[in-house]
Amino acid sequence: MKGSGEKRPILLLSHIDVVPVEKSQWEMDPFEAVIKDGYLYGRGALDDKSMGIVAMMVLLILKREKVSLKRDILFLAAADEETGGKCGIEWLLKNVPSLEKAEYALNEGSYVICDDTGVPTRYELSNGQKVLFQLKLKARGTSGHASMPTPDNPNVTLVRGLEAVTRWETRLHVLPMVKEYFAKIAPKQPPEIRQYFEDVEKGLAHQAVRKRADIEPHLQCHGQGHGLPDHPPGWNKSERDPFRIHSDPRLQNPSRYVERPFP
Ligand SMILES: [Zn+2]
Repeated sequence: MKGSGEKRPILLLSHIDVVPVEKSQWEMDPFEAVIKDGYLYGRGALDDKSMGIVAMMVLLILKREKVSLKRDILFLAAADEETGGKCGIEWLLKNVPSLEKAEYALNEGSYVICDDTGVPTRYELSNGQKVLFQLKLKARGTSGHASMPTPDNPNVTLVRGLEAVTRWETRLHVLPMVKEYFAKIAPKQPPEIRQYFEDVEKGLAHQAVRKRADIEPHLQCHGQGHGLPDHPPGWNKSERDPFRIHSDPRLQNPSRYVERPFP
């Protein structure tokens, strides 16, 4: 949508690809977009087609209301976000020069939180996400026929290694902006947990709080989402993964974890 060009464009970015589905795990056909009891059932309803629809509505409203714009508004519903973006945003950035001109982009990653009556109580922005971390595990040992299993069979070693990976707890690093976020929403929390929000670093020192973080939806907002190593089949975004405020900086260099003996 054209603006006067006084300012650089803003990009409304979303993705329309979805993670795989296992139809048998669904109450409804995941690709029929059925509305039942006030809920829309469909793969991608949350991630991230709804955001694309919101962005489209923004364009329609601006047009209908004849808003004069100081900047162009770019709309992009990309492909291939869920598997790395090579055929999506990466390709587009190389081949669609106008995208580079955007001053900033609004993408998925947070929510408008409403109270029980549907009135927004806060608008959340997320300033970062967990990073993808994929491991390649190799095991060496004595091979052989399954009828005569060897104690140092590489399959056994591999299973032990994978078990060690599942036990690994990411260290939490509370960023200043996240700390401020929790402090600011503290007054709206129930009295028994308010103090933990006021100083979330101290709060997280309590096991009970960390446990609670797994079930408390707004505590998760800075840690949920794209940090799963992969989307397992049947995985549903409503099953939030554990609370991580910011990923361990060591994960920026995965090779340090790869091909290293298991603990
Ligand atoms: Zn997404």
